[in-house]
Amino acid sequence: MFRAISRSQISLRPFIRRAPACRAFSSSHVSRSDGILNSLDTLTEEEQLLQESVRRFANEVVAPKVREMDENEMMDPEIIKGLYEQGLMGIETPADYGGAESSFTAAIIAIEELAKVDPSVSVLCDVHNTLVNTIFRKHGTKEQQEKFLPLLSESKLGSFCLSEPASGSDAFALKTRAEKIGDDYIINGSKMWITNSYEAEIFLIFANVDPSKGYKGITCFAATRDMGIQIAKKEQKLGIRASSTCTLNFDDLKVPAANIIGGVGQGYKIAIECLNEGRIGIAAQMIGLAQGAFDKAVPYTYQRVQFGQPVGHFQGMQFQIADAATDIAAARLLTYNAARRKEEGKSFTKEAAMAKLVASRVAQSVSGAAIEWAGGVGFTRETGIEKYWRDSKIGAIYEGTSNIQLQTIAKFIQKEYS
Ligand SMILES: Cc1cc2nc3c(=O)[nH]c(=O)nc-3n(C[C@H](O)[C@H](O)[C@H](O)COP(=O)(O)OP(=O)(O)OC[C@H]3O[C@@H](n4cnc5c(N)ncnc54)[C@H](O)[C@@H]3O)c2cc1C
Repeated sequence: MFRAISRSQISLRPFIRRAPACRAFSSSHVSRSDGILNSLDTLTEEEQLLQESVRRFANEVVAPKVREMDENEMMDPEIIKGLYEQGLMGIETPADYGGAESSFTAAIIAIEELAKVDPSVSVLCDVHNTLVNTIFRKHGTKEQQEKFLPLLSESKLGSFCLSEPASGSDAFALKTRAEKIGDDYIINGSKMWITNSYEAEIFLIFANVDPSKGYKGITCFAATRDMGIQIAKKEQKLGIRASSTCTLNFDDLKVPAANIIGGVGQGYKIAIECLNEGRIGIAAQMIGLAQGAFDKAVPYTYQRVQFGQPVGHFQGMQFQIADAATDIAAARLLTYNAARRKEEGKSFTKEAAMAKLVASRVAQSVSGAAIEWAGGVGFTRETGIEKYWRDSKIGAIYEGTSNIQLQTIAKFIQKEYS
């Protein structure tokens, strides 16, 4: 069914390196020299090439494995290898550190394209790029960047370890402690819900070095699996089942003080900052998911004949399909707008929260409707449509629940109007 192609034919690396999308994007995309503003979803030539290339990788390499990975609740190592080969695991990382040196929007486009085919593969790439790589890039020392970024770009998967059994939305109430002994810190505690952690080699762990200071004691540590990180439990989930989500226990985990990222007590700032960015990535995952479900179900409605005509020709169906297409377009514009504001150096926290909130709602409503449009077959695993709906639920939970996004948006409104 899928044309056999070699990996080298579809690699993103050559053109990303040749023409980093971020440079072309910021100078020519949003505001051209003649002062004309482009539409939000206008992509530069480089971005279009990247989009086409990720789309091809997703359709030809990921798609054949989606159902099996979902059923097995396991990511195929070949997919992770393929993501590295495509240059998708260091999208914004400087070329000197083995990355593609591209833009944040390039990462958003890649996450969206992957999610059209498999939201599990998408979130693996998203967490690795928008959280882990970003923290090293923005807050790591030169030595830390030299040591970790090439590994993250070339072969070692990253995890972001903030949530704990007793601290989710209230993340900074975390209980994991780090005690300084000589040149090392000894970390004790437990992390829960950690994406990528089953396969990861590099972990960013948030621990409190001085609980008397409250959240100002929270510090970010870079640790590697060989330091003794153990998986306590791998979750069985409703959706994104190929994406690993584990509980990690740290029992006297020894991490050198040299592995503190951004300084002692800076962990909460680092986490807030990168999660604001990360939310745009989740919004991209959700719009990709919604589009993927739409693309699978809509053609079926023009083939399936009932009452002597394709079911998609009934007005009752046409209006639902039109509503869904409009919702996806609206969510996409919110997401691209948040990404562009971030690249332009403008405030984007409110916009990112709005994008994630709306995109996760749209993902759930469109994928739910897509099942209904396909009728009984939509409810079976065969079509893959029901998987999008299962996968969509997570959009309202991770990187801040929908209530937390609403809280963020409300804070901005209150500030603006009172
Ligand atoms: C599949 C998956 C992957 C994840 N990956 C990661 C990861 O890689 N790294 C990581 O650190 N974490 C990760 N998480 C954790 C995720 O970020 C948390 O689950 C999320 O922040 C919510 O926390 P909680 O589950 O403890 O829910 P709770 O915080 O207990 O929330 C329960 C309910 O209460 C509501 N609520 C809480 N506080 C308020 C409030 N102030 N106002 C109104 N309503 C409120 C919430 O909206 C929610 O509806 C992941 C979670 C899942 C399920």
